[in-house]
Amino acid sequence: MRWTSPHPNLDIPENLTTWQWAFESPQHSPLFWAAKDNLGSYINAATEERLDFAQVKEKATHISTALIREHGLEAGDTVSLFSTNTIWYPVVTWATVRAGGKVNGASPAYSADEMAYALRTAATKILFTLPASLDVALAAAEAAGLARTRIFLLEGQREGFQNISDLIEAGSQYEPFQSWSIPSGESNKNICGYLNFSSGTTGLPKAVMLSHHNLIAQCHQLKQLQVVSPGQRYRILAVMPLFHITGSVRFVHYPLLMNGDVIMLPSFTMDSMLRTIIRYRIEELILVPPILIRLVRDPIVTKYLPSLHQTVKRWSSGSAPISPEIIQLLRARFPDTGFRQGYGATESTACISCHPPTHYDYKYAHTAGIACANTELKVLSLSLPDQELGPNETGEICARGPQIAMGYLNNQAATAETFQDGWLHTGDVGHIDSEGLIHISDRIKEMIKVKGQQVAPAELEDLLLGHEMVEDCAVLGVPDEYAGERPKAYVVLKPAFEASEARGRVLLALVREKRVRYKWLSEVEFTDVIPKSATGKLLRRVLRVRDREVGRVR
Ligand code: AMP
Repeated sequence: MRWTSPHPNLDIPENLTTWQWAFESPQHSPLFWAAKDNLGSYINAATEERLDFAQVKEKATHISTALIREHGLEAGDTVSLFSTNTIWYPVVTWATVRAGGKVNGASPAYSADEMAYALRTAATKILFTLPASLDVALAAAEAAGLARTRIFLLEGQREGFQNISDLIEAGSQYEPFQSWSIPSGESNKNICGYLNFSSGTTGLPKAVMLSHHNLIAQCHQLKQLQVVSPGQRYRILAVMPLFHITGSVRFVHYPLLMNGDVIMLPSFTMDSMLRTIIRYRIEELILVPPILIRLVRDPIVTKYLPSLHQTVKRWSSGSAPISPEIIQLLRARFPDTGFRQGYGATESTACISCHPPTHYDYKYAHTAGIACANTELKVLSLSLPDQELGPNETGEICARGPQIAMGYLNNQAATAETFQDGWLHTGDVGHIDSEGLIHISDRIKEMIKVKGQQVAPAELEDLLLGHEMVEDCAVLGVPDEYAGERPKAYVVLKPAFEASEARGRVLLALVREKRVRYKWLSEVEFTDVIPKSATGKLLRRVLRVRDREVGRVR
């Protein structure tokens, strides 16, 4: 059976780049329909520095001009951002797509190894970072063969490096050239403007190619389901990172369509988040489950409760499953609020489904919402993968629509496996009920989700296999109350090494040293054999079923 979205179909432009849609299209851009003194903006919550969308347009125009004229940026080139959330992040995003480039974000917590892998995978030509990350960026750039003259600072200064102000100054010396357009006869569906990392169903992180159409479509899909109180301005707090697709959609692109304000939190603490929600009267919070857990458990929240009750109308959760207990606690603590979920993946430009306004209610909170406009769903049998299932039958969730990505960069095999005839095979297991609500119950893909962030087991397995003691290994996600899951390693030692706690600690330390914190192992368990198929493929599911029986893994 196929499910089509119950929402009215949307007409999504096919001839515009995201830049043209956001800044040059009379139909869509707030620069044409909002009063000049009432334009939306990106705001730094700590310093209150503010860039309205007219200023963003002007500065991004200068930056793209400087990158093209003085630094050789060409259409199709990748610009990577290795940074925490700052108001300059969106400006560089816009400058890149204005020039016809591809925007790529990477976690600012990456180690030099991880960042070098990211630069190679995304084929980065130009890198933007912050002074605090410059040393890691330099080591990564050297390993990936990127010249240091191609590294720029988003904020601050360092001897020998140009920053945003230098680029704006340089670009303003030239006549601005026209923004890059979709070549005639082509569609924005086939032009990649964004590369976001995801490990997908299996293997190492890959660069997901998202088209200009994908981003525009997702914004229109979300707007159809948006409620803003009468007389209120749309305001959103950018807690989630901008390098993740949800951050890119919600905090960089969507606010243009809404002419809204985006409040950036450069560094997260519960206290700063709560104060900012109240100060900027944020009605809807887009969060990941670990932050919602803190909202119901952290004593600091009590201090702000009366103001939060007056301000927050709705919580929105996504990126990972949320437990029924937390939903209940949230409802008890904030009885007058609504709740909704967004479900999707990097490969679907964030949301496949969300709760529409009719379902902003805790009674639907355990579900992942209803298919967005223009989106079709099917559920495939896990034992007979060609068989499409009916309502309430559990299988793999597949989705087709204008937000489904183009594929993986330079990886035809993974693309063919995950994207088939326009259908994204999500690797998520669940069912769709008689109301069309999606219920996610499991994951058949390898990916582990720690605090909403992806961990690819293959990456940690490669690292462990590189250690002299390790003969074989497998990494699985084990449940963790706060983080959702944490990676655990099952290790077979070479005959010369005997299992001991000290040896376990050596392997834990290896991952700590080489990988970003959320990838750190919770545990190492020594075992005699890792289950494999006749062709040598790791049978993660066998290991998982075995360990589930003793209640150890998800
Ligand atoms: P990412 O590409 O990092 O956004 O990760 C996508 C994966 O996160 C999905 O395939 C799901 O496994 C998981 N995920 C995202 N949203 C939800 C949700 N609302 N409920 C359960 N799992 C989710």
